Amino acid sequence: MGAYRSKKLAILLVGLTILACFIPVFVTDLYTCAVCGKSRSLTQVFGFTIEASDSETPCSLWYDMNVESCRDHVWVRGTWRETKGLFSFPNIGSNISSRATGPLIRFGEGERLLIYQHSPDVRDARNVFLGLASWETDARRRRQQERLELELAEWVDSGFVGPLPQIGH
Ligand SMILES: [Zn+2]
Repeated sequence: MGAYRSKKLAILLVGLTILACFIPVFVTDLYTCAVCGKSRSLTQVFGFTIEASDSETPCSLWYDMNVESCRDHVWVRGTWRETKGLFSFPNIGSNISSRATGPLIRFGEGERLLIYQHSPDVRDARNVFLGLASWETDARRRRQQERLELELAEWVDSGFVGPLPQIGH
């Protein structure tokens, strides 16, 4: 009887271990700062942050040198997520657009650097970026935000011809 029980327990433990390997325990999301363009990778286990590592981008280095050092980063979550089970296996990445917390994600850091460099006033570009940092919930403001996103993309495509698009017109 005792041997039977311990055999059952062993099978259960092996089963749980195998299961634990495949359950996505570690969740890593990528963020970008709407102000300076620094990037952050944030790893969570069951909603608790266990690791956050920031890395400079050409945009954040430029911002730091030419504008100011970014004191309060405004993090916008991107579309990319990586999940891992225990023992780092399996390692699964997925790109889901609804994961982004704001339309700014459409503009990469390299593009945002160019927008900064082509704006007569850095503060105007920063306001545009902050206006796109998180989705508007109000329908009217959401439409204004969509228009801004579109106009900004067109401005980039045109090679920065004409004035920088502004929020809410
Ligand atoms: Zn920042």
